[in-house]
Amino acid sequence: MANGEGFEKEFVVNMSYFPPNRALMGPGPSDVHPRILAATARPTVGHLDPWFVEFMEDLKGRLRNLFLTRNDVTLPISAPGSAGMECCFSNLVEPEDTVIVCENGVFGSRMRENVERAGGLPCMVKNDWGKPVDPEAVETAVRANPDAKILAFVHAETSTGVESDAKTLCKIAQSHDLLTIVDAVTSLGGIPVNLDEWAADAIYSGSQKCLSAPPGLSPVSFSDAAMEKTKNRKSKVRSWFLDLNLLTGYWQGQGGRSYHHTAPINALYGLHESLVMVEEEGLENSWSRHQKMHGALKAGLEAMGLSLLVEPAHRLPQLNAVKVPDGVDEAAVRKFLLDRYNLEIGAGLGPLAGQIWRIGLMGYSARPERVLLCLAALEDALTSCQAKINKGVATAAAQAVL
Ligand SMILES: *Cc1c(COP(=O)(O)O)cnc(C)c1O
Repeated sequence: MANGEGFEKEFVVNMSYFPPNRALMGPGPSDVHPRILAATARPTVGHLDPWFVEFMEDLKGRLRNLFLTRNDVTLPISAPGSAGMECCFSNLVEPEDTVIVCENGVFGSRMRENVERAGGLPCMVKNDWGKPVDPEAVETAVRANPDAKILAFVHAETSTGVESDAKTLCKIAQSHDLLTIVDAVTSLGGIPVNLDEWAADAIYSGSQKCLSAPPGLSPVSFSDAAMEKTKNRKSKVRSWFLDLNLLTGYWQGQGGRSYHHTAPINALYGLHESLVMVEEEGLENSWSRHQKMHGALKAGLEAMGLSLLVEPAHRLPQLNAVKVPDGVDEAAVRKFLLDRYNLEIGAGLGPLAGQIWRIGLMGYSARPERVLLCLAALEDALTSCQAKINKGVATAAAQAVL
């Protein structure tokens, strides 16, 4: 910047940013409830303040209720879902460990990356995008790799809107003495995640999907067997920040907690408030709300003449993959929704790029006014690009479900 004029313009004047008020109906983040946003504005305390240590205990208890687990080591990682993923892999995978990785979308392929970076040997079970993980293919892979140590899969694949059968996959792993790593980033709070019933060993989620807290925190939970493996590793966990042996020094234990990193205090207030809200609503009621909003959205989309990618039995209510009608420019439609309606929906990824939209109904976004807004706005967008749809019927069809 050569002259003083430019300096003034860019750095002195108008330094505060005021983001637009979007309706967030993509693959995450979801709308953050005002109560949760307000909670993040409460006074910051020290990360070892006795008051905060009590707060941490309460938070962990609520996370256990949410995961339906008694796992002692259940805590939020101070970073987004991807860090929760990396925490699970970097602690449980030792160099040369064979890990069976199920891939049916974007996040399965990221698991592979994590295995490799931890020094492990991934053995991929590939399924078509838009289909669930096939338990028979997993059984075959497990039998073909008797020295495998871990099975990893994504419960709710956000890139396609597919749910895989976590209970069955965990059973297969257990019958062959494998540990399990489960991605529950999009499932937690939106559909049943019953950790102790599945007896999965490591699970990670995210704050910004069905919990509707701001992005940046990743709840995780580890079984005793997983902690055993982490404690008895031959080599150190390659990530210092995510090493559970160090993290638990801060998050666990009566009394003497030691500094590991400065916890994101205010973000944790937000997560806590979201857990209080889930408990107020009731976890099962939250699941059925997601299901009902999905039913309403689906009724509206189908009345309009649109169709969903995934077979009914494997559809995620909180992530709806909608087929783009022939001849429609999917990016132009998303731009129209954002510009005219302040409404964000997601695009397709990988082999589904250009073919689907991803409409999220997660957490606070899973409510009637969002469903109706989305249907009305989408109808307007499709009309403006001359797509052949049935007009004037979508919101009524959704109302009939609501
Ligand atoms: C969003 C998501 C992640 C990554 O979470 P970030 O918070 O974006 O790091 C991982 N897995 C799944 C299934 C997701 O939907």
